[in-house]
Amino acid sequence: MYVGVNIRKVIAKYDLDRITIVTLASHSALQLVHGAKKEGFRTALIITENRRLFYEQFKHLIDFFIVVNKWSDLCKEQIVKKLIELNSIFIPHGSFVEYVGLDCAENIGIPLFGLRSIFRVEANQHLKMDLLAKAGIPTPKHYNLDEEIRNLVIVKLPGAKGGKGYFLALSKDEIIKGIERAINQGLINKPSDALIQEYVVGVPAYFHFFFSPVLNRLEILGIDIRYESNVDGLRRLKPNVLERIGIEPSFVVVGNIPMALRESLLYKVYDYGLRFVKVTRELLPPGIVGPFCLEGIIEDDLNIKIFEFSGRIVAGTNLYIQGSPYSFLYWDEPMSTGRRIAREIKLAIKRGKLDSIVT
Ligand code: AMP
Repeated sequence: MYVGVNIRKVIAKYDLDRITIVTLASHSALQLVHGAKKEGFRTALIITENRRLFYEQFKHLIDFFIVVNKWSDLCKEQIVKKLIELNSIFIPHGSFVEYVGLDCAENIGIPLFGLRSIFRVEANQHLKMDLLAKAGIPTPKHYNLDEEIRNLVIVKLPGAKGGKGYFLALSKDEIIKGIERAINQGLINKPSDALIQEYVVGVPAYFHFFFSPVLNRLEILGIDIRYESNVDGLRRLKPNVLERIGIEPSFVVVGNIPMALRESLLYKVYDYGLRFVKVTRELLPPGIVGPFCLEGIIEDDLNIKIFEFSGRIVAGTNLYIQGSPYSFLYWDEPMSTGRRIAREIKLAIKRGKLDSIVT
């Protein structure tokens, strides 16, 4: 349960010349520490022993390793104390809530770069889709089990598990059987945990944005396509073979591919980004800060339906550690999302606006 943390009090005591950028050793951590170093910050990684050998290769980017037995130890008093001593600003990435749990993520007493109150929304597929709809962003239709369902649907389970356990269904029967299976496997507790959504046929694309409260502007920092197993492998097999082997498509993310969007679609995508910023300002004040991602499918009439968002840095940004074709246009220098975060922190400190970018 979110009890609210007085972060202003914490940063009031910080030595702003000795800020440390901290994150968990996973997801986009290398990009984040690389970007932080480029902008002149100290860096720290929260790490488990089994990952240390790997990350120590990048010692030149990491000033402090803080070893924990398990990720949720991040919220233990002595770790929080240590982080405050280091004047830490913690960067939550896509694995953060999944690793430490919602309770720790919402209540940890150190400043987080970004919007803390969006974690709870992100943890619930229904609340997520509601927020997009309230923004006026086109989304796929969704269904309740008491409605007639005849179209192809994708049934989604909660939490950022990289598409794990999602399944396709063509009838209510198939949906019910699939949901029962998910309950038996402990993936969900009750049928309403699952989201039943129209399956949109088209090209998936993930739009990376950055909202800067300091410059009061929205930037589009990159676009990627996710590569997913086995759905992206199925096209290698002929339809008659597929029918005979009866393999069901699955959507487990295994990597990311860069994408440059047809330019005439960019302004449309940008408008979706602006709507997202506006709705979060209205419903989750102070509103989104820094990186977020709108995840959609582009149909053959070039309409784009957004089926998901992430209120934080997404792994697809790891493609652009040297900057993307778009980030280069804003900054005329290699600007990864990780570096952009550090730049925002630097600008905020310079202009006395740190409390507008941390929650
Ligand atoms: P998500 O966890 O919502 O990001 O979804 C994982 C993957 O499932 C996506 O990357 C897409 O490949 C696929 N997907 C999700 N929602 C839809 C949809 N409504 N229509 C088609 N494919 C979808």
